[in-house]
Amino acid sequence: MELGKVCQAKIENQRKDQKKFMQHTLTFLGTSTSVGIPVIGCDCPRCLSTDPKVSRMRSSIVIASEEQTILVDAGPDLRHQALRHGLKEVDHVLYTHAHLDHIAGFDELRAFCWKRDDLLPLHGNPGCMEELQRIFAWAFAKTNTYKGYIRPEVHVFEGPFSLKSLEVTPIPVLHGSVQTSGFKFQTQSGTSIVYIPDVKVIPESSYPLIGQPDYLIIDCLREEFHPSHMSLSESLAVIEKVSPKRVLFTHISHEMDCEEVAKQLPEHISFSHDTLTIPFS
Ligand SMILES: [Zn+2]
Ligand SMILES: [Zn+2]
Ligand SMILES: [Zn+2]
Repeated sequence: MELGKVCQAKIENQRKDQKKFMQHTLTFLGTSTSVGIPVIGCDCPRCLSTDPKVSRMRSSIVIASEEQTILVDAGPDLRHQALRHGLKEVDHVLYTHAHLDHIAGFDELRAFCWKRDDLLPLHGNPGCMEELQRIFAWAFAKTNTYKGYIRPEVHVFEGPFSLKSLEVTPIPVLHGSVQTSGFKFQTQSGTSIVYIPDVKVIPESSYPLIGQPDYLIIDCLREEFHPSHMSLSESLAVIEKVSPKRVLFTHISHEMDCEEVAKQLPEHISFSHDTLTIPFS
């Protein structure tokens, strides 16, 4: 066979291989810590910046494929995030924990209930689901039958579960006094993405769940110490231990000068920004 035809055949085969696996995208809807960037009333260089990559909404991601759309956390910026990305449908909501910067968009989830006949599945660890049902008691009440309201379906996870072709492994982490989960998403081809936006300490027992992911998306609040979030040196220590192929920092404070810090980081480590999309299969 001529060289050109061999190359063509190779490309065709690669295409066939790729087709076997579901194509997914992970999009960062928000990448900031609880107050967002700019911070109300702050005149620091980040808060005054006009660079769209410096401005950040509250942390959340969406994983989309032909078969489903999974929203991870529903914070106070959810309405703007959904409009910005043309997010029309959500099949599952996964919660990392019940801090307000991750749950305050609860009422915006109504828009994803109007078009569906069945209930909207909300997944969280036992403590998180208990908090959600306490804070938004009206939505979980048996008397909530009106179609215009959010109609949640409670899913309490205590271990790995599947959402169609995606394997989801909750990763218990320590973040202040709140029971918090990170998530590993693994595709049928073996690609894995780990998302841990709020964490201070990863217990030894959680490292086997993380494994050696293709992408590690992890909390990196600022350079200075913080009692309930990882600072840069702590995030780098986790990276050293886990050896992921690529790292993206998230849950970032306005105190972090990402542009300057990024200059000192190895090539495979960078800061995420709102609207960044990663394709994976
Ligand atoms: Zn948070
Ligand atoms: Zn500021
Ligand atoms: Zn938190």
